[in-house]
Amino acid sequence: MDKNAIVVNRLIDRYGYYAYWVKLNKSMRCECVNPSTKEPDKECKHCLGTGYYITVRRLFLASREGKEYESDRAQSFAVTPKIMYTKGFVEFDKDDIIIDSESVYTVYTFQHIRGKEGNLSYTKVIAPDLKLNRAQFLKLFKELINEHLPNRR
Ligand SMILES: [Zn+2]
Repeated sequence: MDKNAIVVNRLIDRYGYYAYWVKLNKSMRCECVNPSTKEPDKECKHCLGTGYYITVRRLFLASREGKEYESDRAQSFAVTPKIMYTKGFVEFDKDDIIIDSESVYTVYTFQHIRGKEGNLSYTKVIAPDLKLNRAQFLKLFKELINEHLPNRR
């Protein structure tokens, strides 16, 4: 595992790029959620149609296409999921959303892997495509980002 941690850290250094991580706070429902149907407003600008309070962060990661055998057998993905690596122990939650330019993924599972030296630890994420309407989600997300981070490059 130690050797693997070194390799993964080099891969992140070499091929890493910034994506966005939308963390869902599942203990806090967004105000748009209809109390009787429990359905969120799909066009809600606050929660991006997820129905929960969200936090948006930038995330430096490296990614590759998943292989068939890496999928959980209990879960049938329409396509093989994306495998992402990020440095350190990152506390994702299932269903958090990762926006990688025009692609949107949902965190299905993640694993913390400890390197020999603490600083070589990394988090591996298995993330299939977003379950929600991707185009709609991206539109809302871009509006949110442009509103709150006008000076981003
Ligand atoms: Zn909402």
